[in-house]
Amino acid sequence: MKLQGRTALVTGGSRGIGRAVALALAEEGADVAVNYVSSEAAARDVAEHIGKTGRRTTLAQADVGDYPDVFRMAQEVLKEFGHLDILVNNAGINSDKTFVRMDHASWRKVLGINLDGVFNCTKVFIDQMIKQNYGRVVNMTSVIGQIGNFGQANYAASKAGVAAFTKSLAKELAGKGITVNAIAPGFIETEMVQAIPEKVRNRLLEQIPLRRFGTAEEVARAVVYLCSSDGDYITGAEVSINGGLLM
Ligand code: NAP
Repeated sequence: MKLQGRTALVTGGSRGIGRAVALALAEEGADVAVNYVSSEAAARDVAEHIGKTGRRTTLAQADVGDYPDVFRMAQEVLKEFGHLDILVNNAGINSDKTFVRMDHASWRKVLGINLDGVFNCTKVFIDQMIKQNYGRVVNMTSVIGQIGNFGQANYAASKAGVAAFTKSLAKELAGKGITVNAIAPGFIETEMVQAIPEKVRNRLLEQIPLRRFGTAEEVARAVVYLCSSDGDYITGAEVSINGGLLM
């Protein structure tokens, strides 16, 4: 097992990619805290699966966009696990509208969760990672942050912001035993992508050289790679998992 003895927090671990990441980290031996904002039953289900692997787990409810809430969650996780080695900033939302129709509330909501959320969660754990001279931070960006998309100015800006944050932090923390990387998925079969109308899905598939959407498990395996000793020499990277959509 590649992550024996490690502790991890996965934000947005209740569904989709985050769920697959939480389960994959546990399968490799890590104790995993499962963050969610409202899907308690789904988060409990993930925790039950982790429990079956023999790893420790805890539910870590918090709105990542709310700093005081995140601070409280961090205290609870640190009390439970004693320390945190791996932070996966995965929680994210979209609220799509063309820019002409996009109101300030929609802009703020997406930036508040996708970008501020990454700041908040990293901020509350980083001092402890620096103190232990070890940490692995993985941020979920998106191919949309790299190429932009019709109707997703807020989402694309948030993800491009996270990518730039990742590189800056990687430089600041490289001397402190902490690597900071991003994973930029293309279109992955989760509720987010299942909500796309079939006509648009078919048009998207034509643009993907591998002619299929990715799976959450394929993204999860890259997170494990970056967090295990296999990824020790990787920092500041944005790993594309997009079936060739952008190359
Ligand atoms: P998803 O299935 O919609 O799940 C979203 C997760 O984020 C849920 O666990 C949700 O918790 C959590 N969440 C949402 N708002 C939150 C908040 N304010 N505080 C804490 N948790 C919150 O999403 P997904 O498709 O797995 O995407 C996961 C990440 O990958 C996102 O950052 C997304 O932008 C990125 N991504 C996805 C794709 C894709 O094709 N799916 C592509 C590129 C990038 P609840 O269950 O409690 O609501």
